[in-house]
Amino acid sequence: MHDHRRLGRQLGLFDTDPLMGAGLPYWLPDGATVRHALEEYIRGVERRAGYRHVYSPVLGKRELYEISGHWSHYQDDMFPPMDLGGEEFVLRPSLCPHHALIYRSRAHSYRELPLRMAELGGMYRSELSGVLGGLTRVRSIQLNDAHIFCTLDQVADEARAALELIRRAYEALGIRPARFRLSLPGPGGKYVADPAMWERSAALLTEVLDSSGVPYEAVEGEAAFYGPKIDVQIADEAGRESTLSTVQVDFHQPERFDLYYIGADGDRHRPVMIHRSVVGSVERAVAHLVEQHGGAFPGWLAPTQVVVLPISDTELPRAAELVDRCAERGLRAEVSGPEHGTLGARVRAARLVPYQAVIGAREASGDSVALRLRDGRRVDSLPAAELLDRVGALVGAFRTDLWDDDEDRVRD
Ligand SMILES: [Zn+2]
Repeated sequence: MHDHRRLGRQLGLFDTDPLMGAGLPYWLPDGATVRHALEEYIRGVERRAGYRHVYSPVLGKRELYEISGHWSHYQDDMFPPMDLGGEEFVLRPSLCPHHALIYRSRAHSYRELPLRMAELGGMYRSELSGVLGGLTRVRSIQLNDAHIFCTLDQVADEARAALELIRRAYEALGIRPARFRLSLPGPGGKYVADPAMWERSAALLTEVLDSSGVPYEAVEGEAAFYGPKIDVQIADEAGRESTLSTVQVDFHQPERFDLYYIGADGDRHRPVMIHRSVVGSVERAVAHLVEQHGGAFPGWLAPTQVVVLPISDTELPRAAELVDRCAERGLRAEVSGPEHGTLGARVRAARLVPYQAVIGAREASGDSVALRLRDGRRVDSLPAAELLDRVGALVGAFRTDLWDDDEDRVRD
């Protein structure tokens, strides 16, 4: 594995500037492309799984976080309040309180449940500058977050469905979880005091994990202040673990925000809130992807998916035309012409690009390419239209393999 900070800079994905501040990375065009592809993938799978997306502001009044409990349990990790004409605003430490207010803004019937509300939104953490670095310890976080408001009977199915979303996303991203953890409260932590609630949520999550058949460990001291959670752990190059994805069951915030739905009996009932994140923070997810793949991202995530290599200047117009056809298909392509050196040098420079389409005189006259795959395999003569179809299909299906293995024209 690789160090994402070094590779991120080398590949022009992201950087920081002391004037913007430590822990506040900015994304360069190639990094922004990877991030955008990741975010669109997440929004797509969430939409298909019945989530509706919202946008909410990245700050709110101090009272909001006093009600949610963040102010009393999590204040050390929050930025200090800003005074605006006598009102105090804080950068949000999580999205939950905003989503609770959005839920509360309309009356809900039991028929609308489970109501799945998702947002890829900003949140902030006041980390000390000494521990900041790269994309893994940051002060500004883009979180892939969602809250499912549901009945007690629906909790297990919804939590299981969230775990399944996580499993599928890891497959598309080519990442492997280090382990699943059931995170429980531990001694000395700041937790909401309601033993019955903790017992109930822990029992629900245990049931979900047991029925999912994934091996897991129960660990004390890692719960959220409002409830236990399932954490999906990943490991970095040094074997250090961090949490990427979570599923949490929360009885606390629905109570604090007085959330309700109208049941079949016409009475008000309290929903349960499930917090879940498929890829956690976009920053941490991209850092892990960089380290895991060494910059050779799965085709659908690659900043440049197809590099077109004309052998001489004569084939430049053909190469430019192929790039246009790629763009029409939604593929990210670019030309690397003879001004960038010999063909060998250009192939080496494009070693992280999944598809390298070489065009010589023969290919130009036949509207074909000689295709090289990033892993060294080749297809000597491939009609350009077929290249577009095949790569379009593989990328559109979020596949991690670059080519169909049963294809007999491919050679090593
Ligand atoms: Zn939440």
